[in-house]
Amino acid sequence: MSEVKFYSGESVPLEMHKVRIVQKLHLVPIEQRHAAITEAGNNTFLLKNRDIFLDMLTDSGVNAMSDRQQAAMMVADDSYAGSETFYRLEERIREIFGTRYFLPAHQGRACENILSQVLVRPGTIVPTNYHFTTTKAHITLNGGTVEEIFTSDALEVTSEKPFKGNMDLEKLRALIAEQGAERIAFVRCEAGTNLIGGQPVSLQNMRDVGRICREHGILAVLDASLLADNLYFNKIREAECRDMSLREITRAVADQYDLIYFSARKLGCARGGGICMNSEDLYKTIREKITLYEGFLTYGGMSVREIEAITVGLEETMDMDMVSQGPQFIRFMVEELARKGVPVITPPGGLGCHIDARAFLSHVPQAEYPAGALGSALYLVGGVRGMERGTLSEQRNPDGSEKLADMELLRLALPRRVFTMSQVKYAVDRIVWLYENRRMVGGLRFVEEPSILRFFFGRLVPTSDWQEALVAKFRADLGDSL
Ligand SMILES: *Cc1c(COP(=O)(O)O)cnc(C)c1O
Repeated sequence: MSEVKFYSGESVPLEMHKVRIVQKLHLVPIEQRHAAITEAGNNTFLLKNRDIFLDMLTDSGVNAMSDRQQAAMMVADDSYAGSETFYRLEERIREIFGTRYFLPAHQGRACENILSQVLVRPGTIVPTNYHFTTTKAHITLNGGTVEEIFTSDALEVTSEKPFKGNMDLEKLRALIAEQGAERIAFVRCEAGTNLIGGQPVSLQNMRDVGRICREHGILAVLDASLLADNLYFNKIREAECRDMSLREITRAVADQYDLIYFSARKLGCARGGGICMNSEDLYKTIREKITLYEGFLTYGGMSVREIEAITVGLEETMDMDMVSQGPQFIRFMVEELARKGVPVITPPGGLGCHIDARAFLSHVPQAEYPAGALGSALYLVGGVRGMERGTLSEQRNPDGSEKLADMELLRLALPRRVFTMSQVKYAVDRIVWLYENRRMVGGLRFVEEPSILRFFFGRLVPTSDWQEALVAKFRADLGDSL
């Protein structure tokens, strides 16, 4: 793989695309941001776009589309049944993954709903390298339990391990021996991972897990929502993949699984989802649920325009220039922050830059939501919206006590091809300023706490007047800057 080197020696990722449609952004003054975050109950989900400068909440449904995707949307074939648009997607999926059958669904969690209804029975277990929020909810809703069998590297904040998303093979074998293969609904691999810093899974690990599943007649399932990032890391971090094309790596990955599902809000840079498999029996069983919950088999709850965009988006995902943009920008951001001493998850993964809020705000107790407080503070000082991934995102224990999270992270997602280098540098600058003033940041407490998924709608207040003090310090340091 060739790389562009700067004569100056500077090391910055170079965008291999040009911007042809733009959206105006607003950076409102810090006093206005203070009012906005107060009104939002210090919950970044409740902020309005008009008050946000850089929206780093998520990579879901907000990746930039290409000119070819937009053009394809104009020629979509609108019909309830038998749409040519659908057959184009089906054909592309078959070509890329090598799977025989494809079923459409309106997004990733819809696939999870249907798979859990078909495969999970009360008392069954789903071993996984790491859960995702919606996946776990659907498995639990159908009476199953999720067993996380990540390796000891997975939760280490700073590390040089290239594949922290790998599954622990010994734990998987032990679990099968202890519970019996018939109690395992399926083995689920998420590549790349979402909740543990976008860390990838190696092709070798997928192969090993696939072999164990076949030995025991257990269904192997891949959640490929974040596969674009994972393919990039396979290619640059795994010796056997170095000389393979992305298409070849994708086929080698797909060959390890009986079933693949994905959110096309991420994979394919559009909005939708789908399930791919080879088994005709499985296809027929799942098919019934698609027509019941999603729509007819040739749209599955998606707009035909989005289906066209996914088809082109998947094709474009086979291009290293395309898949490298996100991870390279993330690496730049992580390395800049690490150089300034800001605690971030390393090695850099996909999806976004993850700040370790427990280390950043080591004086804020976990029960006062350090990751939530950091999210609120970063919006305040920079107009940058991140997502809390820590205790606030957990559900309380049945006795009402806090369930303290394994990790307290503020995730700053970098939607693919959306932000420019100077915007990333601005975010780094404001994070570094905040780090230097971190002792001023206090905690949060709930004033409105929903009993389920409290992170979406909960409202909190600062535990002291730390936000007023931070605004005053910002003005003292940065004058009348926005
Ligand atoms: C986003 C995501 C999902 C859910 O997909 P939606 O389209 O948001 O419903 C499932 N798994 C992973 C790994 C994801 O990142």
